[in-house]
Amino acid sequence: MTRYRCAACGNLTRFDVTSTATTRAFYHFTLGGELEIEDEEVIDRTVHEVRCRWCGHGRSIEVIEAPEPSSSSSSS
Ligand SMILES: [Zn+2]
Repeated sequence: MTRYRCAACGNLTRFDVTSTATTRAFYHFTLGGELEIEDEEVIDRTVHEVRCRWCGHGRSIEVIEAPEPSSSSSSS
Protein backbone atom coordinates (compact mmCIF):
# COMPACT_ATOMS: atom_id res chain seq x y z
CA MET A 1 0.00 0.00 0.00
CA THR A 2 1.32 3.43 -0.92
CA ARG A 3 0.93 6.47 1.26
CA TYR A 4 2.05 10.02 0.74
CA ARG A 5 3.60 12.55 3.05
CA CYS A 6 4.30 16.20 2.47
CA ALA A 7 7.67 16.97 3.97
CA ALA A 8 6.97 20.69 3.80
CA CYS A 9 3.99 20.76 6.16
CA GLY A 10 3.78 17.22 7.52
CA ASN A 11 0.46 16.53 5.83
CA LEU A 12 -0.35 12.80 5.71
CA THR A 13 -4.00 12.84 4.80
CA ARG A 14 -4.99 15.41 2.13
CA PHE A 15 -3.71 15.22 -1.42
CA ASP A 16 -4.84 16.04 -4.92
CA VAL A 17 -3.96 13.00 -6.98
CA THR A 18 -4.10 12.92 -10.76
CA SER A 19 -4.17 9.36 -12.04
CA THR A 20 -5.44 7.17 -14.81
CA ALA A 21 -6.78 3.71 -14.16
CA THR A 22 -7.42 0.74 -16.37
CA THR A 23 -10.52 -0.96 -15.12
CA ARG A 24 -12.68 -3.91 -16.01
CA ALA A 25 -16.32 -3.79 -15.09
CA PHE A 26 -19.62 -5.47 -15.68
CA TYR A 27 -21.80 -3.09 -17.68
CA HIS A 28 -25.40 -3.87 -16.97
CA PHE A 29 -27.80 -2.11 -19.31
CA THR A 30 -31.48 -2.03 -18.81
CA LEU A 31 -33.65 -2.50 -21.87
CA GLY A 32 -34.32 1.20 -21.62
CA GLY A 33 -30.65 1.89 -22.15
CA GLU A 34 -29.74 2.92 -18.63
CA LEU A 35 -26.34 1.77 -17.54
CA GLU A 36 -25.39 0.39 -14.19
CA ILE A 37 -21.72 -0.41 -13.66
CA GLU A 38 -21.06 -3.32 -11.36
CA ASP A 39 -18.00 -5.18 -10.11
CA GLU A 40 -15.54 -2.55 -11.25
CA GLU A 41 -12.01 -3.81 -10.81
CA VAL A 42 -8.89 -1.69 -11.12
CA ILE A 43 -6.36 -3.60 -13.19
CA ASP A 44 -3.73 -0.91 -13.37
CA ARG A 45 -3.34 2.60 -12.03
CA THR A 46 -0.80 5.19 -13.01
CA VAL A 47 -0.33 8.20 -10.77
CA HIS A 48 0.72 11.27 -12.72
CA GLU A 49 0.83 13.89 -10.04
CA VAL A 50 0.40 14.18 -6.29
CA ARG A 51 -0.05 17.60 -4.79
CA CYS A 52 -0.29 18.54 -1.17
CA ARG A 53 -3.72 19.95 -0.50
CA TRP A 54 -2.31 22.53 1.87
CA CYS A 55 0.87 23.60 0.06
CA GLY A 56 -0.74 23.52 -3.38
CA HIS A 57 2.26 21.81 -4.97
CA GLY A 58 3.92 18.43 -4.95
CA ARG A 59 7.52 19.44 -4.58
CA SER A 60 7.86 17.99 -1.10
CA ILE A 61 5.76 14.86 -1.50
CA GLU A 62 7.37 11.70 -0.25
CA VAL A 63 6.06 8.26 -1.11
CA ILE A 64 5.79 5.90 1.83
CA GLU A 65 5.52 2.19 1.20
CA ALA A 66 3.34 1.16 4.09
CA PRO A 67 2.99 -2.51 4.99
CA GLU A 68 -0.24 -4.20 4.07
CA PRO A 69 -2.89 -4.17 6.80
CA SER A 70 -2.51 -7.26 8.94
CA SER A 71 -6.07 -8.43 8.29
CA SER A 72 -5.22 -10.57 5.27
CA SER A 73 -8.65 -11.22 3.87
CA SER A 74 -8.23 -13.24 0.70
CA SER A 75 -10.73 -11.57 -1.58
CA SER A 76 -11.41 -12.82 -5.10
ZN1 LIG B 1 2.24 20.33 2.34
